[in-house]
Amino acid sequence: MRPATIKTQVSSGGVIFRKTPENTLEIALVAVKDGKVWSLPKGIVEKGEEASDTAVREVREETGLSGRIVEKIGDISYWYYIKEDNAKCRKTVHFYLIEYVSGSTSDHNWEVDAAEWFPLEEALNRVSYKGDREIVRKAKELLLK
Ligand code: ATP
Repeated sequence: MRPATIKTQVSSGGVIFRKTPENTLEIALVAVKDGKVWSLPKGIVEKGEEASDTAVREVREETGLSGRIVEKIGDISYWYYIKEDNAKCRKTVHFYLIEYVSGSTSDHNWEVDAAEWFPLEEALNRVSYKGDREIVRKAKELLLK
């Protein structure tokens, strides 16, 4: 088989947070891969779109929650294989801290199996990918400072 070609992708996503009436900080996660994997909501940055706008849009589409940007959290990168193209893809994902404004996780879209609020500590244990966990850890630092 010919050697794999290399592709690059850039996505953007968010850690959307709220404080409950009991003063617990919660963030929203989405379940993918038949509900087995919990991750942060994100998606491809479209041509001409600012990464921060992508984050707000993707969070709204995937989780049903609207919010406003507070600040940038950081970036993660990972490689994955695209079988149909026999390509290796290096993906970079920008993450933003987003303050919850309105909406309900019951309005999550078809791209995810579920969207749910979790207390911050529980979310840290729940996220499946190391990169996402690092971003949630940084978000926690920003929120508690
Ligand atoms: P997007 O949500 O940006 O439109 P997508 O759903 O098409 O992207 P990814 O979520 O990047 O694609 O998933 C592609 C592959 O990378 C999958 O095999 C997935 O398991 C893996 N993957 C997703 N997120 C991470 C991560 N944070 N770290 C490592 N691997 C990941």
